Amino acid sequence: MPSSNSGFQHLSQAALSRSRFLRLAAGALLPFIGLRMSAAVPPNPDLVQNIGAPGTKDTAAQGRMGAILVSQFGPVKIHSYLSPADGFHVNTQMIEGPTAVVIFDGQLLLPYAGEVASYVQTLGKPVDRIILSHAHTDHWSGLQVLTERFPDARVFALDGVANQLRARGSARLDSFRPIYGDRIATKVTIPTETITEGLQRIDGITYDFKRFDDAESDLQLAALLPEQKVLMAFDLVFSPNEHAFTLVDHFDHWVIILESLKALQGYDTITIGHDTPVHRSAIDSTMTYVKRAKAIHAASADAKTYSESLKAAFPDLQHAEWVDLSAKLLYAAPR
Ligand SMILES: [Zn+2]
Repeated sequence: MPSSNSGFQHLSQAALSRSRFLRLAAGALLPFIGLRMSAAVPPNPDLVQNIGAPGTKDTAAQGRMGAILVSQFGPVKIHSYLSPADGFHVNTQMIEGPTAVVIFDGQLLLPYAGEVASYVQTLGKPVDRIILSHAHTDHWSGLQVLTERFPDARVFALDGVANQLRARGSARLDSFRPIYGDRIATKVTIPTETITEGLQRIDGITYDFKRFDDAESDLQLAALLPEQKVLMAFDLVFSPNEHAFTLVDHFDHWVIILESLKALQGYDTITIGHDTPVHRSAIDSTMTYVKRAKAIHAASADAKTYSESLKAAFPDLQHAEWVDLSAKLLYAAPR
C-alpha cells in the first residue's frame, strides 16, 4: 500500500475475493459498501492521528481486529473504528465530548461492533446516543451489539430510515447469513428516534445535521461539526483511490449533492463511510467518477459493458471487482 499514513499500515490489506463479493451481492439489494484502506490524504494539521498511543486510553489495543484513528480538535475527539476487510472497512465514528460519547453507525459484523463497544467503554463516558447514517446493512447490523452493551442509548436516524429497515432489514440479514453465520445480526435494530435536521448541540458540541436523498443510497445523513470544521459525509464521498459504488441510477442528483458539499467553506477534513479521512478534493474526485459513470451507463446496454467501460476509464483505482457489483445491481433495476 503506497501510504504515508504509517499508523494504518498494520491493517490487513486482504480484500474480499471477487467470488465472495459477488456472492454477497447476489443475495442482497444494496446491502453494503466497502473500501480498502487508501493512501488517504492527510487532513489538516490539527488532526492528530495515532493508534493506541499514550493518552488515548486505548487500553484494549492488543489483539484488536479493527483499527482506531483518533483525531483531536481541542476538547473534542473523534475516534474512528475501521473494521477489517471482511467487514467492508466500514467506519464507526465516536464523538467524544466533555461528558459523553455519540456513536455514528454500528458495523456489519457483530465481533467488530463488540470491539467498538469495548473501546467506547475505555473512554469512561456514557454513550449519549447512537446515530445511524443510512440503511445499508454494513452500517446497522452491529447495532444489535451496541444497543445490548449500551441499553440506555437511544438510536436515531433520519425520518424514513426506520421504515426502510422494517421493510427490508430482515431479508438483508438473511442474505448475509450464509456467508457470515453468527457474525451477522440475528435481529434488525430499528431506530427509535427521528433525527432533527439542522443545528443541534449535544454535550456542548454543535452538529448541523443534513438529509440527502437519492445519491449513493436513497436516504443519507451527513453531519457538519462547524466548530471543528469537520464534514461527516458517510457514503456521499469516496476515497480518491477507490472505485465508488454506483448501485442505483441517481447519478445526476448525487452530483448536485456533491456540488452543495463543495460549496461548504472551510471543511477541509471529511470523514467518509469506509476509509480514513480525506481532503475536500475527494469531493471533486467523487464527482468526476459519478459523472463518468453516468455517461458510461447511458452508453452501455448491459451490465458487462458498463463494468468493463468503467474499469477502463479508471484503471488505477482500487477494487475493480466492486464495479461488477455496482453493474449487477444497477442493471437489475428498472431503467
Ligand atoms: Zn456504506
